[in-house]
Amino acid sequence: MSAHTILFLNQKGGVGKTTSAVNLGSALAQRGKKVLLIDLDSQGNLTSATSIDGRKKGIYEVIAGQCRVQDAIQQTPILNLYAIASNINMAGLNIELVQEQQREFFLKNALGELDDQWDYVLADCPPSLGLVTVNAMVWAKQVIIPMQCEYFAMEGLNLLMRTVGNMKKSLNPDLVVLGILFTMYSKRTKLANEVVEDISSFFPNLVFKTMIPRNIRIAEAPSHGLPINVYDSSSSGTKAYKALAEEVIERVARNF
Ligand code: ADP
Ligand code: MG
Repeated sequence: MSAHTILFLNQKGGVGKTTSAVNLGSALAQRGKKVLLIDLDSQGNLTSATSIDGRKKGIYEVIAGQCRVQDAIQQTPILNLYAIASNINMAGLNIELVQEQQREFFLKNALGELDDQWDYVLADCPPSLGLVTVNAMVWAKQVIIPMQCEYFAMEGLNLLMRTVGNMKKSLNPDLVVLGILFTMYSKRTKLANEVVEDISSFFPNLVFKTMIPRNIRIAEAPSHGLPINVYDSSSSGTKAYKALAEEVIERVARNF
């Protein structure tokens, strides 16, 4: 059986894409799943949050045909958790790809030789809907949309849903939204609850029951190069990402 391929997608920055990719990945790894993370963002936040070496060959070199995917995979300090680094070269890729034929298919072609050893391959997208993100949507089968409970949440979400729908109609018929994930949630905030209610009634089956609470330990963990479940195993963040892992396992088994 081939891996579940999941993108963390939102054109907005600071919504918890990287945090969720790392911490869901680590929670799945702790559950015994073999997980590969791919950093697609030139900022390399996932690379540093998992303590892999950003100077080694990474996803840019794989996409550019300078390195085989197998040779870009690095082991993280966490059992079962592996990652492919990103570096600043990724910042130029959108423009480099524009001139290429089949420019939307570079990532899919480059990852084609990933073997069947992975249970999950999770990719962290940059905060834009540029060509790198389009490449990611051509390759993956499932999308998780992390979002904050903010006033303009619905506008951004509608654009994302349309974008995924257009990709499904054109370049990747297999693409589906696996779920909408609320991050940095404060249950005592009236606005947060209104946004959750609003979006849940609009997309009733898509919102994950698990919401990630605002938790300072989650924000601290990346500076130690560790996922939350290793940095602080008893934190509310650890519990939340563990619950999310269970929900994801259940969802991918059920209908996708
Ligand atoms: P994105 O990848 O979408 O830009 P990040 O995952 O980098 O977003 O998160 C943005 C910032 O918010 C980071 O500094 C991160 O540490 C912090 N953060 C993310 N999730 C939480 C949370 N649940 N509680 C507290 N801080 C968080
Ligand atoms: Mg990020």
